[in-house]
Amino acid sequence: MTTTELLQYDRDHLWHPYTSTINPLPVYPVVKAEGVTITLADGKELIDGMSSWWAAVHGYNHPILNAAAKTQLDKMSHIMFGGFTHEPAVELAAKLLPLLPPSMEKIFLADSGSVAVEVALKMAIQYWQSKGVPKKHTFATIRSGYHGDTWHAMSVCDPVTGMHGLFSGSLPIQYFIPQPSVRFGEEWKEEAITPLQDLLERHADEIAALILEPVVQGAGGMYFYSPTFLVRARELCERYNVLLIFDEIATGFGRTGKLFAWEHAGVEPDIMCIGKALTGGYLTLSATITTKLIADTICSGEAGCFMHGPTFMGNPLACAIASASISLLIASHWQEKVKRIEEQLRTELAPAIKLPEVAEVRVLGAIGVIEMKHPVDMAILQRRFVEEGIWVRPFGRLVYLMPPFVISTNELSKLTSGLLRVLTHN
Ligand code: PMP
Repeated sequence: MTTTELLQYDRDHLWHPYTSTINPLPVYPVVKAEGVTITLADGKELIDGMSSWWAAVHGYNHPILNAAAKTQLDKMSHIMFGGFTHEPAVELAAKLLPLLPPSMEKIFLADSGSVAVEVALKMAIQYWQSKGVPKKHTFATIRSGYHGDTWHAMSVCDPVTGMHGLFSGSLPIQYFIPQPSVRFGEEWKEEAITPLQDLLERHADEIAALILEPVVQGAGGMYFYSPTFLVRARELCERYNVLLIFDEIATGFGRTGKLFAWEHAGVEPDIMCIGKALTGGYLTLSATITTKLIADTICSGEAGCFMHGPTFMGNPLACAIASASISLLIASHWQEKVKRIEEQLRTELAPAIKLPEVAEVRVLGAIGVIEMKHPVDMAILQRRFVEEGIWVRPFGRLVYLMPPFVISTNELSKLTSGLLRVLTHN
């Protein structure tokens, strides 16, 4: 198949994320990715600024992850998890649990971030059912959040930028409070917790859990808020008998400067979701982790078990790669790398604030965000980025970088200078 044929077939038959089939945005045929370099079919090389949506923290085609995949492939790529267990799953759990909040003891392996969120929400509902409080079956969250595209995950995404309008009538109605008003690094103001306090005061008897992306809201707005909000939220959840779910699918594995974002606040959730960088971006795998008490309460209820069991649960190939990825991350001086990326992003993105179309520039960990005053024209901007030899995928008013941690100073400079050139001359 020639590249032209490939692109035509793709255009005629393949859906892409959030893309029209009638008038699709252009897609670029990629033939190879190695380190932070993505090679297109015409030989053009792009420096990756996206880590394939938070996932590829070690860059692409990593020899250690490749070796882990090949070794496991020769043993078995999959076996059902019902009635079987295996070393890759057990080893992964044993590596992961010591890195998570100490109370997290029971791990449910699922296939994608959205499913991990569904699992977390189902756990919360089954927990309250088991306790004889079935009335607690709605959820509370903050605006501008994003938790995935499946049904209940969608219902806790931001009601305006999310999909509530389209699916209203069939989506469950949840409780929303405003985004935390105190930003990361700002002095805490107690009134920032009042909306949550008021909500729980009025509706805690119906609310199963509060779900949050801790500290960094990703796809809903790339917003960084005060960790003290989490401390207060934890206290309120305790007081009002509401479970606390941290969705660390985007924030996990070092991206915010801590291995997991809960560490910024030092308060533990009752249920936690991870995904994306879990396999270093190689395969889809996620996990929902909870305490022994919650797991045991769920399983002592009417059903006698937690009612979920995906076909590809605990997929050995994904688990083996995830284990290798975690070991690689821990041995990689990731803190220094993320710190260096953070400092460089801060320095090199700062001049963007002078551009007339730029509203704000913000950086946390290995995440650099340029918020524009108006939504960008994605097709034009994407083409200009590719011409500059960089891979950046904006959405709405947000143009942002979250490169693989292995990016060199030079490569990152190429990324930031290319980005600024495009925004300056656009
Ligand atoms: N939660 C958060 C915080 C996310 O950023 C995402 C993905 N962008 C998801 C859940 C859903 O993950 P997936 O796309 O793997 O279903």
